[in-house]
Amino acid sequence: MKKHNFYAGPSILPDYTIENTIEALKDFSGMGLSLMEISHRSKQFVAIVDEAVALFKELLSIPEGYSVIFLGGGASLQFCMIPYNILGKKAAYLNTGEWATKAIKEAKLFGDVEVVASGEDKNYNYIPKGYIIPADADYFHITTNNTIYGTEILKDIDSPVPLVADMSSDIFSRPVDISKYAIIYGGAQKNLAPAGVTFVIIKNDILGKVDRAIPTMLKYSTHISKESMFNTPPVVPIFAALQTLKWLKNNGGVAEMEKVNIRKADLLYGEIDRNSMFKGTIPAKEDRSRMNVCFVMNDGFEQFEKEFNDFASEKGMIGLKGHRSVGGFRASLYNALPFESAQALVKVMQDFENMKKL
Ligand SMILES: *Cc1c(COP(=O)(O)O)cnc(C)c1O
Repeated sequence: MKKHNFYAGPSILPDYTIENTIEALKDFSGMGLSLMEISHRSKQFVAIVDEAVALFKELLSIPEGYSVIFLGGGASLQFCMIPYNILGKKAAYLNTGEWATKAIKEAKLFGDVEVVASGEDKNYNYIPKGYIIPADADYFHITTNNTIYGTEILKDIDSPVPLVADMSSDIFSRPVDISKYAIIYGGAQKNLAPAGVTFVIIKNDILGKVDRAIPTMLKYSTHISKESMFNTPPVVPIFAALQTLKWLKNNGGVAEMEKVNIRKADLLYGEIDRNSMFKGTIPAKEDRSRMNVCFVMNDGFEQFEKEFNDFASEKGMIGLKGHRSVGGFRASLYNALPFESAQALVKVMQDFENMKKL
């Protein structure tokens, strides 16, 4: 039986992605060779990259003037590449959690960093609001979905300076107004593909403005001009990403994903609020992530934490243990997670409550 996979990352992928990738690992594009043993410059593989870029543009309605590139190094390398390439004097950051904190740390190596607001005072259980973005910053950096704490910025904000967003864990989960962003980036392993490839959507005209020398491999323009083929790209993850993009398109695209994601999240948050055994960790409803739903045992029931985890895993649920910074549970409801898995989790929570009442 396939498990109900609630892992936060790497995480569930569509069967379509996994099956087509297995096929290509055996025989890629009728070449009689594995995807792992062909040249990344073969016309068959170049066509994969081209199609993946085209589907990124189509599915996210990316306007003219933007490039899409695939890199190695994970989202974490972008924490340094972004300031390296676009921080002249000063950058502004919103601190909404551990990933944002790591991004801030790297940016400080390149210039002044103004943290406009931070949720650290309440263990990042809310998205700060009412902050002022300094007009003299080269850019403003946000993390749209905070995978660890379970908060999410669900609206595309208006920024007076170029907006840069880490969308590692919510890309393709809802329509995004790309024109409001200068850079959107993310590791693939939450909503797109196996680990190993990082996507960067970048507005071309924000580049070339800083004076410092930038190493060739860390320069966006290198990868843009070579169409992600400056050096050997992560071939297998890119192939898998293309399969997920096709799956997204076949399933109605990001607008349809958003509908299902809202249904899954509403169902689960509704149960957390209703069920006497559990409580949510994010008080403000508008800040609750649709991708990573965090909850803990309710007051007085803390001793049942391990028992519930065991109970759920007997029922085929995997990956529910919360991150150590929050504790309790985290159910990740990424695009590929079927609605039925969210229903199954709710049923397990209800069964557990009934069992404890007896
Ligand atoms: C997982 C994650 C990262 C780190 O990604 P790597 O590819 O492992 O470097 C960064 N930001 C967010 C929001 C994440 O969820």
